[in-house]
Amino acid sequence: MKVPAQKRIALVAHDNKKFALVNWLTKNKSSIAQHILYATGTTGKTIKRELELEIIPLHSGPLGGDQQIGAKIAEGNIDLLIFFLDPLEAMPHDSDVKALVRLAAVWNIPMACNEATADFLISSPNFNASYERRIDDFKAYKERKIPK
Ligand code: PGA
Repeated sequence: MKVPAQKRIALVAHDNKKFALVNWLTKNKSSIAQHILYATGTTGKTIKRELELEIIPLHSGPLGGDQQIGAKIAEGNIDLLIFFLDPLEAMPHDSDVKALVRLAAVWNIPMACNEATADFLISSPNFNASYERRIDDFKAYKERKIPK
């Protein structure tokens, strides 16, 4: 799949990581502003309050926002995921987070779950250029025999 130079990027941060994400976006604002940005509810509100970035808002994560991003990935409408996870707190929507990370893996979406990985992604020449993203055709899976 050809991913255009202007990417559709999903931004999510757990509460204890929201300011880490805001700081990272501040540092990288000129580059990130070239792209189309989606964010889960509270993450998006926090970004808008602190930075002038245009954000397409989704539901708050625990209310379905993570699942909305997952659906967009499955439909081919998100090209990159930046999700600053809090590894030290249990979330009521842990299963949604797991589902989102799983779908990003299924569809070979570049995904940063912490700041260092986000730094590597944004400094890649692919961040601002078009990119051929290989997607499995899942032929073997689709054609598997279902026992009668
Ligand atoms: P939020 O959701 O941006 O609404 O806080 C993020 C999440 O925890 O999935």
